[in-house]
Amino acid sequence: MYSYSTYDANAYFAKATCHLNIHYTNGYVQAKRQSVAMHEIGHALGLADIRDPNSKTIMNYSPAYRYDQIKISRIQQDDISGINAIY
Ligand SMILES: [Zn+2]
Repeated sequence: MYSYSTYDANAYFAKATCHLNIHYTNGYVQAKRQSVAMHEIGHALGLADIRDPNSKTIMNYSPAYRYDQIKISRIQQDDISGINAIY
């Protein structure tokens, strides 16, 4: 799975693209696919992976922890704070 964004000459978003690999996600329950999609949209908006394995955010790099262990499939307050810091 990956995401990228492009910007126009004024540094405004021109386009954001997210790709989900159904080879992996078709075996996921709907809420886990949502977790992956929200994570990738976070990347498209400019958020980086959170490498702290105990991070309780949608940007935690590990879907096994993020969804399978702590059941996060929606953005959390730390994710919102990250977006607010960027914009
Ligand atoms: Zn990521």
